[in-house]
Amino acid sequence: MSTLRIVWLYPDLLSTYGDRGNLLVLAHRARARGIDVEPMQVRSDQRIPHTADMYLIGGGEDGPQAVAAERLLDDGALGRAAEAGKPILAICAGYQLLGESFYANGRAYAGLNILDLRSDRGPSRAVGEIAGETAPQLGIGPITGFENHGGRTHLGEAVQPLARVTAGVGNDGTTEGAWAGHVIGTYMHGPGLARNPRLADLLLAWAIGVNPAQLPPMDDTWPERLRAERFQALTAAQ
Ligand code: GLN
Repeated sequence: MSTLRIVWLYPDLLSTYGDRGNLLVLAHRARARGIDVEPMQVRSDQRIPHTADMYLIGGGEDGPQAVAAERLLDDGALGRAAEAGKPILAICAGYQLLGESFYANGRAYAGLNILDLRSDRGPSRAVGEIAGETAPQLGIGPITGFENHGGRTHLGEAVQPLARVTAGVGNDGTTEGAWAGHVIGTYMHGPGLARNPRLADLLLAWAIGVNPAQLPPMDDTWPERLRAERFQALTAAQ
């Protein structure tokens, strides 16, 4: 691959929580491995290019989330990207709208049906640190991040949880996020990839078609130390 094209979707609607940091982390980690990166920001009044190698979508408040879902459904490109096996990373509001339905502004909205899940409203807002043990098949170990959402997410049979929650709420207090094929959804802001570099490398490896172990190692001493410290402290406090 000559240039890795990473699309960051709808910065005009879903950029409330600093999730653009995920784009910066991916670009940095790709370039450090000698891979050229073309970051592309696609606003909600633009067509989504089908030629990209990876798609990122962030979190946001209820109003922009509902508008984003409507425009993404109209566009259709994200569903086709998922079918084509392109990696997609979706955070919080972006994660909820990949499911069958989600709840915003006091009512249910249709989602994109890319992930087999649905979201409704929880008894209270989940705000704070979150930690979990990821599915062993992913090979990325524990994750930590920051969550801030009112919704709760219920997983169907065709997805696997990204992690078992050891602290915080995530989907429902038991599992956090979801994963199917090369699509990952998570409640982790932070931004999630800055705090979980192994997750960033998994997405990069999927995008360029290699095993994550084939990516040249990077010095992740500090993020790994933070991740270990946060995971232990949060999990012990439960
Ligand atoms: N509006 C959604 C909720 O509260 C998503 C929030 C977010 O993206 N942080 O559940």
